[in-house]
Amino acid sequence: MERTLDQLIGKITDDLNIEDVISHYITVERKGNSAVAICPFHQDSNPSLSISNAKKIFKCFVCNVGGNAITFVQKYKKVSFIEAIKIIADDFNLNWKDYFTNSKSVVENPKIKEIKKINLETLNFYKYNLRIEIEKNSHLKNYLNKRKLTDDLLETFSIGWAKNDNSLKDFLLKKDFKEEEILRASLVKNKDGRLNDLFFQRLIFPIIDQDNQILGFSGRIINNNNSIKYLNSSENLLFNKGKILYNLNNATEEILFKNNVIIVEGFMDVISFFKINIKNVVASMGTAFNINHIEKLKKLTKNFTLAFDNDQAGIETTIKTYNILKRHNINLSIINLSDDGKDIDEIISKNNKINQSYFEDRKISFLDFYYQKVIEKLTLESIQENKLREMLEIILSSKDFIKKEIILNKVKVKFGDDLINNFTNKIKLNPERKIFFENNLTNKNNQNDVNILYINKNLNKFEKKFDQEEFKLLINCFLSPILFDTLIKNHFVFVNEIYMKIFNLVIQNKELINGFDKTKTFFNDLLINSENDDFKKIVNNLIFNYQEFNKNENLLKELANINIENQIKNLAYKWRILGKENYKKNFIETDTTNDNDEKFDYLIERLKTF
Ligand SMILES: [Zn+2]
Repeated sequence: MERTLDQLIGKITDDLNIEDVISHYITVERKGNSAVAICPFHQDSNPSLSISNAKKIFKCFVCNVGGNAITFVQKYKKVSFIEAIKIIADDFNLNWKDYFTNSKSVVENPKIKEIKKINLETLNFYKYNLRIEIEKNSHLKNYLNKRKLTDDLLETFSIGWAKNDNSLKDFLLKKDFKEEEILRASLVKNKDGRLNDLFFQRLIFPIIDQDNQILGFSGRIINNNNSIKYLNSSENLLFNKGKILYNLNNATEEILFKNNVIIVEGFMDVISFFKINIKNVVASMGTAFNINHIEKLKKLTKNFTLAFDNDQAGIETTIKTYNILKRHNINLSIINLSDDGKDIDEIISKNNKINQSYFEDRKISFLDFYYQKVIEKLTLESIQENKLREMLEIILSSKDFIKKEIILNKVKVKFGDDLINNFTNKIKLNPERKIFFENNLTNKNNQNDVNILYINKNLNKFEKKFDQEEFKLLINCFLSPILFDTLIKNHFVFVNEIYMKIFNLVIQNKELINGFDKTKTFFNDLLINSENDDFKKIVNNLIFNYQEFNKNENLLKELANINIENQIKNLAYKWRILGKENYKKNFIETDTTNDNDEKFDYLIERLKTF
């Protein structure tokens, strides 16, 4: 089996302990459950770099540098991503040469090897052509100028030029490749027994994979004649369009560092983003986004951002992609282009002032996007059964619990409670779907809600919901030792400071909460020993709900099988939706130290990485 760079990255980031890797290069101290170090990326005197083995990341909470084991070495040694991989592999006895496909130890299909050789010669040939052609072809020169395709960009993306003749075929034959080999690389076509070049008068974009192998080529016309805009070399032993993400070779490092990937439709969108220094961008090769793409990207990040074309087709592709991604536990955002241009390339080319924050500001959740682009345009008169069903499927399948509720309420206002609530009676559904809709539309699945007296009266509806979730999590700690241990292991931080205080008290007195009676005694001791009214109120809440929960056999069963990761992730997700500012106001205001911002960012970072 061929070993790939992907696998080596996996070996380093998954199999090695990040603490072991970092402590190979700098001194790491243990502090209780966590590992910390003097940060090498700023003038540090107290250890501010914290390392999480569970999450496999490091982060400095002063200078904000963070990443995984590979990015640590990359930044520490000031080397490229690939160099960092090689350094770690050498230091940890992983033979990196085994993982680079052009190394001699890999036995490769000789036909594939031949295609790779031809592709490399072809790349150099086309690049050389472009340099010559620019000098004499003013139309091409204008095109490149207008598109702001500078020499640097042409070099970074290895862009070339195919002339208006059969010179590639002649060139390759002169290099002693046989006709059948050239045909196998699908760069020439057999026409009536004669070989002709595939590309004529096109800008050539090589398709390069993560191991820097050239897999194939795509050619773009530069004038609006009747030819198709992009022409790809056809699939062959090496080139499989459904598996390829354009620019993944350049973007891998930045995707890891930003913990986010932007997915676009075309090469020019990728290159345009690159012009304004947004480099975590890939494009699918004109094929639908599929499981191969997801598997590749999921290894690098779980945060995907879609920036497809700003037209009906783009909207449909976005929805289709959401439907594929929703089964994969991906956090999805959409860049909403509104009316600024038809695609990323046009928007960036047209406007000199555009920068990264322009796109950051336009990032919205998928449900908001869907509401603006689809639901708002529907009317009660025009909506048909299948559209109604599709709409509800999409809204209800969202794991974004709070956003889901907001959008569902908007939909009920727009189309009437009656239509939505009685939807399942009006349409033919199989029994399983019927239950899914009924449960979700009427919130029957929320039986385990807590009774809670709010300390902070200023909380809005959603903040209350979040607080409730945190409170539930805290009670569940008393019922499930596994949950409790997982939270400790992950250095979980409650936003509500009183919950956090109680949680810390429990950590220090673990033996006191062993069993129902002991736990009740523990709560009573807390009550007696406290003089803070807010604290007492919360403990009273805890006692009441703990007794109720303990009677609920279904809940206890559920807790025994609980997916803790998901529960925490869910909480982290809601936190982000509620917005930074509200939380700052309500929960951190009381803190008298002046490092609120820092502390807040720290909490955000912590939650985000679950
Ligand atoms: Zn630092």
